[in-house]
Amino acid sequence: MNKDKIVVALGGNALGNSPEEQLMLVKGTAKPIADLIEAGHEVILAHGNGPQVGMINLAMATSAASEAKTPEMPFPECGAMSQGYIGFHLQNAIREELLNRNLNVPVATIVTQVIVDKDDPAFSKPTKPIGAFYSKEEAELLIAQKGYTMVEDAGRGYRRVVASPKPIDVAEKETVEALVEKGHIVITVGGGGIPVIREGNRLIGVPAVIDKDFASEKIAELLDADYLIILTAVEKVAINYGKENEKWLSKLSVEEANQYIEEGHFAPGSMLPKVQAALQFASSKPGRRALITSLEKAKDGIEGKTGTMIQV
Ligand code: ADP
Ligand code: MG
Repeated sequence: MNKDKIVVALGGNALGNSPEEQLMLVKGTAKPIADLIEAGHEVILAHGNGPQVGMINLAMATSAASEAKTPEMPFPECGAMSQGYIGFHLQNAIREELLNRNLNVPVATIVTQVIVDKDDPAFSKPTKPIGAFYSKEEAELLIAQKGYTMVEDAGRGYRRVVASPKPIDVAEKETVEALVEKGHIVITVGGGGIPVIREGNRLIGVPAVIDKDFASEKIAELLDADYLIILTAVEKVAINYGKENEKWLSKLSVEEANQYIEEGHFAPGSMLPKVQAALQFASSKPGRRALITSLEKAKDGIEGKTGTMIQV
C-alpha cells in the first residue's frame, strides 16, 4: 500500500452514549487508527457528536418553565464543548495505543470552526432536532422569546430544530495542515465543526448542525488527501437495504452512486450523506478514493478485503 494522506470519519458507534462508555469504546476505536499510522500513513480524524452535543445542550438548557440555575449555553458553544470532550478521549486513547506500539507520534485536537453560507437554503427549512422535549406551552414560549423553530416530534413533545447547512471552508485549515506536515495526528471538524458565518473579519457562531460526513469530505479536499474513510455501523453500503433483494456493494462507481441516489436507496440523514460525501470526494480530483465500512472491519477494509469503495 502507498503512503497516503487519509481522512478518517468516525460515526456514533465509535463513541457511544455516555462518558464511561465513550472512554471504553475509544480504546477500540484507537486500534484501526493506530494501524494506519503504523503503516506510515498521514491520518486526520473527524467524528460525529450527536449524542454528546445533545447531552451538553440538555445539561445546560434553560427550562422555559423553571428558574434557570446556570446560564443557557448557546448551541455553537455546546458544539465547541463536544469537540473538547470527544477530542480529549480520542487523543488520550490514540496516544496510549501508539505508545504501546512504541510509536511516539503527537496527537492533538483542534477546536474547529467550519464556515457556512448565511444564505444557505438550509437555513430556511431547519430539519435537525436538538435538545430536550418541551410541552406545547413551553414550546410556544421559546418561539416567542427566543425565535426558535419548534416541531412536534412523534407525540413525544416539542423539540427545537436547527438547519443543516453545507460546509464551505474550514477556518483552521492552515493549522491542521501545518501539524499534519509535521507528522502530528490531528482530530478536527468534530461534530461537523462549529458552524460559523463570515461577517467581514468576524466569524459568528450559528445554531446549526453541519453533517460530519460533509465536513470530513471538505477537510479532505482542503488538505489534498488521497483517501476518505468513513467508519460507521455497517460493513458495506447496500441497495434495497433491509429488503428481501438487499445487495451489499463492494464497489460503487460515480455513475452507479448517482443512479442509486436518484432511486432512493440511501436513507437521508444516515447513509445518504456518506454516499454523497464519498462521491464528491472521489470525483473531486483524479486518484482520490473513498471507502465506507464498519469500525470493526476497518482493518480488513483498508486492506481492500471488505467495505464499499467509491472510485471514479
Ligand atoms: P454514523 O453515526 O456512522 O453517521 P448513521 O446511523 O448516521 O451512522 O448511518 C449509518 C446507518 O445507515 C447504518 O447503520 C444503516 O442502518 C443505515 N443505512 C441506511 N441506508 C443504508 C444503505 N442503503 N446501506 C447500508 N446502510 C444503510
Ligand atoms: Mg450519521
